[in-house]
Amino acid sequence: MKAVVVTKPGVYEIREVDKPVINEGYVLIKVKYAALCYRDLLQLRGYYPRMRYPVILGHEAVGIVVDSRDPRFKPGDRVVPLLIEPDGTCQFCSRGLEAYCTNGVSYGEEVDGFFAEYARVSGNALVKVPNDVPDEVAVLTPCVLAMVYKGLKRAGLEPGETVVITGASGGVGIHAIQVAKALGARVIGVTRSEVKAGVVRKFADHVIVGARFSDEVKRLTGAGADLVIEAVGTPTLNESLKSLRIGGRVVLIGNVNPDEAFSLRLGYAILKDIEIIGNVRSNRSDITELFRLAGLGLVKPVVAGVYSIDEFGEALSQLSDNSSRVGKVLIKI
Ligand SMILES: [Zn+2]
Ligand SMILES: [Zn+2]
Repeated sequence: MKAVVVTKPGVYEIREVDKPVINEGYVLIKVKYAALCYRDLLQLRGYYPRMRYPVILGHEAVGIVVDSRDPRFKPGDRVVPLLIEPDGTCQFCSRGLEAYCTNGVSYGEEVDGFFAEYARVSGNALVKVPNDVPDEVAVLTPCVLAMVYKGLKRAGLEPGETVVITGASGGVGIHAIQVAKALGARVIGVTRSEVKAGVVRKFADHVIVGARFSDEVKRLTGAGADLVIEAVGTPTLNESLKSLRIGGRVVLIGNVNPDEAFSLRLGYAILKDIEIIGNVRSNRSDITELFRLAGLGLVKPVVAGVYSIDEFGEALSQLSDNSSRVGKVLIKI
């Protein structure tokens, strides 16, 4: 089968590899769509010390079960994998917190991922997709939609609250707007580019263009925003904190580039009573709950481009081009 294989830091090949063989507890899926993510770029550049070579890249997928050695799944089931393969037995897995699994291994990093025709996935990592959720939404659920949903849940978002979303035109941001709206929030999207603001306007209640946005947030809200989803990271975090009302919360889901540090004045966070919430990948229950919202038609996929495996290079270029891209880049397999 054809796959995108990372052979060493910074180097990948599109090549033929053996179709995976499954053992007890595992499922073979035929990948329908896989999505690109900023994390792929970091994995490709060798940022993660646990990266194994060679490895098939890709951690966002939707597929059809073609063979199963897990009684929970049968051929024909449509499924999405978590971002990690959980052991299903540790103290966290037994509480439904697979995202924290002590022995979890990451797809596209420590075990083969999904830019391939077939993938071998542990049944512990799979969630069935309901019929009313399209493939293009399902593929974006574990790493984007359900991850954002989990962050908003942890932040205790209440209907009617105002949420600021930075990087609002990006793959995470444009979908985060929709998840926050689906949960009843009023959303202010922040983007750097006037060109991309048009798409953001279709989803958000207000759009602010530019790097200095906190004054405008205060003008729109009075006391400041209840919550910020920080989907960019270090470059916007200071403005995000300034946008919050006293007692506000910020959910950090921006990039995890280890080269970037942020200097926080503790007094500022303390005196403003700010809650800072780091937010990693979703659990199976977050995915199931997100599918319920998606089934109601509350979340639409925003796709910048769809490519084949052979066009992976072009897909990667589009992912890297922040000047005009809005939404996610997909590989159709
Ligand atoms: Zn991702
Ligand atoms: Zn576990």
